[in-house]
Amino acid sequence: MAATDLERFSNADPEPRTLSLGGHVGFDSLPDQLVSKSVTQGFSFNILCVGETGIGKSTLMNTLFNTTFETEEASHHEECVHLRPQTYDLQESNVQLKLTIVDAVGFGDQINKDESYRPIVDYIDAQFENYLQEELKIRRSLFDYHDTRIHVCLYFITPTGHSLKSLDLVTMKKLDSKVNIIPIIAKADTISKSELHKFKIKIMGELVSNGVQIYQFPTDDEAVAEINAVMNAHLPFAVVGSTEEVKVGNKLVRARQYPWGVVQVENENHCDFVKLREMLIRVNMEDLREQTHSRHYELYRRCKLEEMGFQDSDGDSQPFSLQETYEAKRKEFLSELQRKEEEMRQMFVNKVKETELELKEKERELQEKFEHLKRIHQEEKRKVEEKRRELEEETSAFNCRKAAMEALQSQALHATSQQPLRKDKDKKKASGWSSIYSVTIP
Ligand code: GDP
Repeated sequence: MAATDLERFSNADPEPRTLSLGGHVGFDSLPDQLVSKSVTQGFSFNILCVGETGIGKSTLMNTLFNTTFETEEASHHEECVHLRPQTYDLQESNVQLKLTIVDAVGFGDQINKDESYRPIVDYIDAQFENYLQEELKIRRSLFDYHDTRIHVCLYFITPTGHSLKSLDLVTMKKLDSKVNIIPIIAKADTISKSELHKFKIKIMGELVSNGVQIYQFPTDDEAVAEINAVMNAHLPFAVVGSTEEVKVGNKLVRARQYPWGVVQVENENHCDFVKLREMLIRVNMEDLREQTHSRHYELYRRCKLEEMGFQDSDGDSQPFSLQETYEAKRKEFLSELQRKEEEMRQMFVNKVKETELELKEKERELQEKFEHLKRIHQEEKRKVEEKRRELEEETSAFNCRKAAMEALQSQALHATSQQPLRKDKDKKKASGWSSIYSVTIP
């Protein structure tokens, strides 16, 4: 569609006219259609419980929904906080509720609690991110998408009667822009009525002075404005949890029994459990879901899209279409890619040159080494050659001397071998004479 067509259509702003109908048409059934559709679709509600181990989170969940959820008892020795979500399918009349209870396991158990809030914040953001990813898909299926975004955070305050711990203030401050926080004073049966009253005032004062925004029950809907306004004044709710049934009069009630009496969970003179259940489940559940989507998720989505470079208007407050933003972003991305590519190429060329230089230097060093070794080798060879010659000369001189000696020896030998022969001859001559004599002279 051409830009001018777009402008023409977007500028068309016909003033609606009020007309009366001649008879019943039937669109007054729209609210019923909506109810019927919602009932068929079912609802999801996700509660995050934050509070120290053993503060009564699991007991309160069981008490609120009047059932027994599967919970493992957490130890006090967790190395860090981790989030454990558990989802249940519940049904009341014909309304289906997919309830997820997320427990911040190990909260408050570490010696160093500086980063205790981080896993909780990360978990909440991860659920927003999952939803955003689904929304951004070309083929979205938000209709049957299991929405895991946290609709309410029940923040369990330890009933010390003093003031909030810094861990409570830091954690609530970090969470307040991400989730609807309802603070509750846990195990309210362990604190006296007058102390509780002062404690509530102190807590609210501390929350205000530290700028912590807690969830306010809405007062813009006339039907619930009055009750919500009254309930806002009761915050934080002081609750008691128990699934144990105790006989009071002739009725079985959920209560905690002590040697000195019974604390009834649903007795408004004993604690604010009924107020909490009324506000959380019976009156404001839909508002909590709605606030999560329109306030907290919207903020997350806006920040994320802005981080990605999307904006609704340019510098002159002119509206920006998504397509234009996408095109601009694409161009920016491509030129950035080109710049990076060029940078990488240049880096590569420089690296190759450097390596080439290094190799040449290495080659020159090797050549020098080779020449040096060659010279040494030649010198050695020359010396060996000289030695060999000397040795040969010595050998031949020796041989000459040896030959001379041998000659002398043989001469000497010859001479000595002639002498005994002459002696023999002389002897023989003498004996010849004697024999002649022996014959002639008898
Ligand atoms: P979690 O670790 O926070 O889930 O705490 P649990 O629900 O397991 O409760 C820990 C202990 O506190 C159990 O022995 C509960 O019976 C007890 N408890 C729970 N709620 C209350 C309460 O309102 N008042 C008192 N006095 N004890 C409670």
